[in-house]
Amino acid sequence: MNYLSLDDARTTQLAERLDGVRRRIAAARPAADAAEPTLIVVTKFHPGTDVQRLRLLGVADVGENRDQEAAAKAAEVADPDLRWHFIGQLQSNKAKSVARYAHSVHSIDRPSLAKALDRAMVAEQQESARAKLRCYIQLDLSGAYPELAAPAGSGRGGLAPSSMMGLAERIGASEALELAGVMAVAPLGVDPEPAFELLAALSGQLVGEHPEAKWISAGMSHDLETALAYGATHLRVGSDILGPRPAVL
Ligand SMILES: *Cc1c(COP(=O)(O)O)cnc(C)c1O
Repeated sequence: MNYLSLDDARTTQLAERLDGVRRRIAAARPAADAAEPTLIVVTKFHPGTDVQRLRLLGVADVGENRDQEAAAKAAEVADPDLRWHFIGQLQSNKAKSVARYAHSVHSIDRPSLAKALDRAMVAEQQESARAKLRCYIQLDLSGAYPELAAPAGSGRGGLAPSSMMGLAERIGASEALELAGVMAVAPLGVDPEPAFELLAALSGQLVGEHPEAKWISAGMSHDLETALAYGATHLRVGSDILGPRPAVL
């Protein structure tokens, strides 16, 4: 694939949308002296050529939520400077595949998955000088909405906050995983503010025991401003940059 041939109308469109999101981030940053958040561009359902276009535009972090799709794209794009962030529900039997290309996994929600990823990363490290896999604990924030009868967060994934510390211990004690922090998706159809406020509090608890685990992966196309107000360090933005995704099959 010749990168220069990708300097086309789609690249111009992506450049404009990326610029729009970057301006929203700049406007919403709580303080000019706060560290600049990392923008992860979520490329799920969009082709590898779009990842290459984003590369051309200076994007270094991309997010995917399905192993099969991510593995194929990572092989197609084959760019060692691109960081692949795995952000979706993950079965333990996919750990070996994900460890091959992922820089970070944002969706660790149980000890058995941490164990499988650790084993897979140890094997990877025996073959290449790979850094540890950065791991975020995905939390279920539906508890921030006690007034809702049916937990709004059900189906969005994540671990009960009361189990966070136990999983952090497990990741901290692993050989090839590095505890990066917390991740969450705000419940659908409600004001995201209580969710991100709870996430910030949980992050504070985690950092109290694991000072290095200070990252907060939160904020998507529609709620990145609120996430930034509550300390998000890593934003995962898809549709506002790439456009609508095709309907899920
Ligand atoms: C798809 C996805 C995103 C991006 O969502 P947009 O609304 O398209 O910005 C972020 N996080 C996770 C976990 C996702 O699955």
